[in-house]
Amino acid sequence: MPIRVLASDVISRIAAGEVVERPASVVKELVENSLDAGATQITVEVSGGGIQLIKVTDNGTGIPAGDVELAFQRHATSKITSDTDLEIVSTLGFRGEALPSIAAVADVLLVTRHRDDVAGVALRLERGALAGKIKQGAPQGTALTVRDLFRNVPARLKFLKSTSTENGHISHLVTQYCLAFPEVKFDLTIGGRNTIRTSGNGNLRDVLIEIYGVETAKAMLEIAPDVSATGGQFPVISGFVGPSSIARSNRNYLSFFVNRRWIQSRMLSYAVEEAYHGMMMTGKHPIVVLNISISPQEIDVNVHPTKSEIKFRCEHDVFIAAQKAVRNTLIGLAPVPSMKLSIPSPVDPASSFPFPASPATRKAAPTPKFVPEQREVFEPLTRLPILRVIGQLQNTYIIAEGPDGVYFVDQHAAHERIVFEKVREQQAQRAVEVQGLLEPMTVEVTARQGELLKSQGEVLAEYGFSLEQFGERAYLLRAVPALLKGEKIMAALTEILDSLGEVQKNEWQERVAQLLACHGAVRAGQSLSFQEMEELIRQLERTAVPRNCPHGRPTMMHLSIARLEGEFGR
Ligand code: ADP
Ligand code: MG
Repeated sequence: MPIRVLASDVISRIAAGEVVERPASVVKELVENSLDAGATQITVEVSGGGIQLIKVTDNGTGIPAGDVELAFQRHATSKITSDTDLEIVSTLGFRGEALPSIAAVADVLLVTRHRDDVAGVALRLERGALAGKIKQGAPQGTALTVRDLFRNVPARLKFLKSTSTENGHISHLVTQYCLAFPEVKFDLTIGGRNTIRTSGNGNLRDVLIEIYGVETAKAMLEIAPDVSATGGQFPVISGFVGPSSIARSNRNYLSFFVNRRWIQSRMLSYAVEEAYHGMMMTGKHPIVVLNISISPQEIDVNVHPTKSEIKFRCEHDVFIAAQKAVRNTLIGLAPVPSMKLSIPSPVDPASSFPFPASPATRKAAPTPKFVPEQREVFEPLTRLPILRVIGQLQNTYIIAEGPDGVYFVDQHAAHERIVFEKVREQQAQRAVEVQGLLEPMTVEVTARQGELLKSQGEVLAEYGFSLEQFGERAYLLRAVPALLKGEKIMAALTEILDSLGEVQKNEWQERVAQLLACHGAVRAGQSLSFQEMEELIRQLERTAVPRNCPHGRPTMMHLSIARLEGEFGR
């Protein structure tokens, strides 16, 4: 389509605003133009934090020599013509604002050759005014050089952060486009140093390796296609999610793309958070790449000046689809964290791996048999392997054998998970097992706890605590959840009362269940019989989220046979 100035009624419908806030915004607009031009190779060079120089070179269609001036006019675009096109935007750009906005605050050199043109053209603009145009030989594609950004806007310059901060923004941005377009070969050079290079082979896992490193990328779980999703009105989700063992301390590692447009979305962040609920420690965040494809009619991309936020027509459907895709992937495929062994020289017998001598660890022993009849019917999403208990280590860890090696199960964390799911289920069905106390216990509360009990005593009752007011600051405890025994009763109740004030009201239910699980679960240091261990493992296999305790810590570690054989040099 030729470049044309949009009609004024279309212009008036465009969400106008500041396009160029900082150097990274220039990079964003130029890279988006290259992608819209169908480029398969995009090179970004930056120096001085993007203030001195930004150069983006692509091998896209190029701009026809006759159109180059038009490209720098406000509201001139080749991507849409009418306002109905606004409803079904399929390109990243559509407003015709970026090039004129950039040219207004920097010196610009455009060198381009359209695929149908024999010769290329170079166009120079200084502070938005034409400063030269010549014919020039050039490869097909476009190279846009932006120099001295914001020199004529000192207020903007002052607002910018250090070179390294601006470089950081640029790197982050290019990273996102690498993830969104694995079939495009990206090269980012900052201050003469190549910092990002992707192969453009179309494989997202390979981009993850290039961006996050081999170890992390290998651990990422691919979202399985949802066979029931049909596209169109309903979002189809693909991408990768990190296992909960790989946690980051901020949300910069959540990448969301809608029809390949990189967007910021609190709704999607929240959907991901919900999906990891109970698997990620508080304050930690996962690495996630979510690609959402949805009919263009279902979204409005014309709501934000830099197009970094969009509006979904059916936000709730998208939320549910995203949350479900991430959760199912985590539950269905998440591997048990594997052990990082660093065993010193094998000549030191004292430092050898602390295994109890057991036939299963000796090569000569027969391969353990898994009798099919003994298999349990699993919940469909649970993929914990069938484990055979070998023994207990330090009265704290259950050692078990699975089809692919040895598993160390933290008995307390594992039992916490079991009890947590059990009490949540019982509470939901209003069927918590209760045990009456022969002698009621007196509970003294602080003024604050007293207030909480008045407003929130109901939650405690649902979980099996029967408390009766007995004075200004005293209550009689007549019945407790059956899973609490002896001295654990008061400890649990005190902690519940203390913590109720710390969490949001909508989290109380869950917090009570967590604390009951913590106090009701077997402790570390407690000796367990073989049968008890087998029972615990069986119950763990039946939980919905067997690999994490309710606080998000792992319940088990895995040491693969391959690893073991490697360590022994077999
Ligand atoms: P928009 O992308 O919203 O159309 P821009 O100001 O970013 O507006 O670009 C104006 C026009 O210039 C585009 O519509 C496109 O036709 C042309 N253009 C800009 N950059 C490139 C490029 N790298 N390759 C080919 N055409 C380009
Ligand atoms: Mg553009």
